[in-house]
Amino acid sequence: MTHLPSDQNASGRDLGAEELALLETAVRSGTLTSTKGQFVAQLEQEFAELLGAGHAVACASGSAAVHIAVAALDLEPGDEIITTPITDMGALAPLLFQGVIPVFADVDPATLNVTADTIAARLSPRTRAVIVTHLFGCPVDMAPVMALAGEHGFPVIEDAAQAFLAESQGAPIGTIGSIGCFSFQQGKHMTSGEGGIVVTDDDGLARRMRLFVNKAWGYGDPQPDHYFLALNYRLTELQGAVALAQLRKLPAAVKHRRSMAERLAGAVEDLPGLSTPRAPEGAVHSYWRFPLWVDPAVVDGGVDYLARALREVDIPAAPRYIQKPAFETQVFAEQNTFGSSRWPFTLADPEAVDYSPSRYPGAYQGLDQVLVLPFNEQFTAEHVDVIAGEIRAALEGR
Ligand SMILES: *Cc1c(COP(=O)(O)O)cnc(C)c1O
Repeated sequence: MTHLPSDQNASGRDLGAEELALLETAVRSGTLTSTKGQFVAQLEQEFAELLGAGHAVACASGSAAVHIAVAALDLEPGDEIITTPITDMGALAPLLFQGVIPVFADVDPATLNVTADTIAARLSPRTRAVIVTHLFGCPVDMAPVMALAGEHGFPVIEDAAQAFLAESQGAPIGTIGSIGCFSFQQGKHMTSGEGGIVVTDDDGLARRMRLFVNKAWGYGDPQPDHYFLALNYRLTELQGAVALAQLRKLPAAVKHRRSMAERLAGAVEDLPGLSTPRAPEGAVHSYWRFPLWVDPAVVDGGVDYLARALREVDIPAAPRYIQKPAFETQVFAEQNTFGSSRWPFTLADPEAVDYSPSRYPGAYQGLDQVLVLPFNEQFTAEHVDVIAGEIRAALEGR
């Protein structure tokens, strides 16, 4: 059996001479902090240029990216942000640290993404923003979301951690809302081990986000001070050097992922009971992972059967992605926050923290039917053909 490349080590990553060369320059310069060095600044400039964004601000992680985005909105404790229960905890914890109540919208079971309709169902007088997560690299259907946000006058934050260079109506994902957030964690489209970056066209938001990364110290101001509560969320020059080399490879890496994903989808899409990833009309997927949807009414044993069959031949297929919606984790279910205070949940309207399963039919159905296949830039035609052959064998019988 072919051993599939893994993004957890060199087999599935493109880390080599380019990264080492920039890293060596960074080390030899002796300047490892971004407040004095060149690499993080250069990374920000090239990232903003690639996306056509006005500003980019690098930071320590994707979680930090979401945190600085939320902090930039300067909300009141108890204010609400509508988000998704199918995401990384790093996209939710920052809201609680800022005293904001995450209000979970349901998702479309066919993508596990929020929609304008599921967001609209959770609007309240305390809604101050929405975070849309482009899960697995599949864009949220942005036009109706932006129309809804415009109508109600709240900003949209895009969590693009899984959607580097995905597009919607010709615009890069991350540049459609007010702020786009990205992660450079080991398993993302580009990596420096850990790291993150945000983009925005808004000068005021860019300044607040840059301050939040720097303990709100006004570097370069005539009379700098620590203007408000903030953290040190800086990326180091070491990470900046590696991320810069990775960024320069990103367009080719995403192009390759797309062509391999299309090959894989084309090879299995005729199989009954199976759905391959589909971007909404006018959008382009960037395939962080390759999710399949398995209809248990057609495929006996559903997602568990197919996962088991693929695992037997060394294809690490993961049924149910994160297993359960975020509101079922102990953080939310037991409101484990600061000491025994339960703050900021104590400020929430009961409606905002009502996690009854009946509110989330899409989330439960989608998780029950999704099978996440690994994917990375080192997958070749041979790898995807083997995967497709094994899926076919499992579903059609040998
Ligand atoms: C990875 C990820 C994050 C968090 O990024 P970290 O760099 O791990 O902190 C946030 N949101 C989504 C959707 C992610 O996939």
